[in-house]
Amino acid sequence: MPRASDNAPMAVTRCPRCRAEDIAADAHPTRVLGNGVETRVFVCRSCYRPTELEYRIACDAAGVAYRPLPIRDALRGLREFYAARLDERDEPEIHAALADIDRRLAIGPVSDT
Ligand SMILES: [Zn+2]
Repeated sequence: MPRASDNAPMAVTRCPRCRAEDIAADAHPTRVLGNGVETRVFVCRSCYRPTELEYRIACDAAGVAYRPLPIRDALRGLREFYAARLDERDEPEIHAALADIDRRLAIGPVSDT
């Protein structure tokens, strides 16, 4: 196993939709529908609404009932996402993002924002 050196290139987690934004500390959970199968994805802030809209349209076209992503489900997914990013790069922004998710999960049942 090669050891990570100080010169190792910084791991960047690009938004899968625009491939421009680094979403390691600011990801938005959404879904894509392919062949009637839902896949969870994380995108950047500006891609979030278009991706949800495309998902809604894809559901409509495939005759699948559209349901909003349950908020606690989304938060748990985000928590896993940020924890995995922290393994790649130990940065205060990612710690802060993770702490924010933990705070929101600790609130208990929350109404959709
Ligand atoms: Zn994006």
